[in-house]
Amino acid sequence: MNCVEKVLMAPQGPAFSQLVQGYWRLGAWDMNAQARLSFLKAHVEMGITTVDHAAIYDAGGCESLFGEALKLDPAMRDQIEIVSKFGINGIAQTPGEQRVSHYDSSKQAILESTDNSLRRLGVQQLDTLLVHRPDFLMDADQVAEAFSELKQSGKVKHFGVSNFTAAQFDLLQSRLDAPLVTNQVEINPMHFAVLENGVCDQLQQYRVRPMAWSCLAGGGIFSEQTEQARRLRGTLTELIDELGATSIEQVIFAWVLKHPCNPVGIIGSGKIDRVKEAVGALALQMNTEQWYRVWVASKGFAVP
Ligand code: NAP
Repeated sequence: MNCVEKVLMAPQGPAFSQLVQGYWRLGAWDMNAQARLSFLKAHVEMGITTVDHAAIYDAGGCESLFGEALKLDPAMRDQIEIVSKFGINGIAQTPGEQRVSHYDSSKQAILESTDNSLRRLGVQQLDTLLVHRPDFLMDADQVAEAFSELKQSGKVKHFGVSNFTAAQFDLLQSRLDAPLVTNQVEINPMHFAVLENGVCDQLQQYRVRPMAWSCLAGGGIFSEQTEQARRLRGTLTELIDELGATSIEQVIFAWVLKHPCNPVGIIGSGKIDRVKEAVGALALQMNTEQWYRVWVASKGFAVP
């Protein structure tokens, strides 16, 4: 089974697999290093070659667990594209502690965070580095300086952002020589603000693909007991048969991937059978009316 194709993320950008494996929850998967390596090999075999990390995931723990697995078969490095992110400084709260978690996109913080990610992952280079969240104190010139240094030293090939507004994307882009290659944003039938606030319009305009995170709303579509979640489950279940799908997951991935800004979908599950389900979504053809049925089920009212 090797049906996930590579797609160009942006003009002059990198090629990522159309589905990306997310590693945020790796610490909860209860896998030893060999099992982590087997999981990686299994999704790479399906064509899912791009992996998504962040320095903040388990305070670096996820990158370390991944690096430990990669060390068992270093040749795997050349078969994958590694994305990681910087910018969230988590502070463990202890009683009487005055400090808070915060964002830091100063040049020094970016360089340090990247070095730490490389060390934990056990690799020489990141394929793409993203600003994890917009920092209210972001000085775009400093970010540009850090990116330039990281590019020149060969530590990072491409740069992008995550959770940025269209204006924040333009601000940072205005200081860079190379195009930002993605904006990693939440897209799922329960949360699609980026379809309404100009972010996806901008990405379509620039021909930059978003990376869609939490396509299954972090599992909430299956478990939440709100009216919205119930309506969605009803409609998504109807669509399973209509589309010839095998599960709600497949219908949701088909819904996310249909958007003309051409997202790549990030998979959050650590279960290889669920990863296979997501791959099955690539063969589905959802028509426009079916896409809007999910929209209506989510909103609880018809389009104006
Ligand atoms: P998700 O696919 O929306 O949620 C994954 C969760 O849903 C897992 O706990 C999974 O459990 C559960 N799940 C999947 N299928 C299910 C089913 N049929 N029934 C019940 N539960 C089910 O993805 P996500 O983990 O939230 O996000 C995906 C990736 O996006 C992350 O790994 C990370 O790389 C990235 N991300 C980025 C940001 C950002 O700010 N840039 C934010 C969040 C996430 P099992 O593991 O048991 O299958």
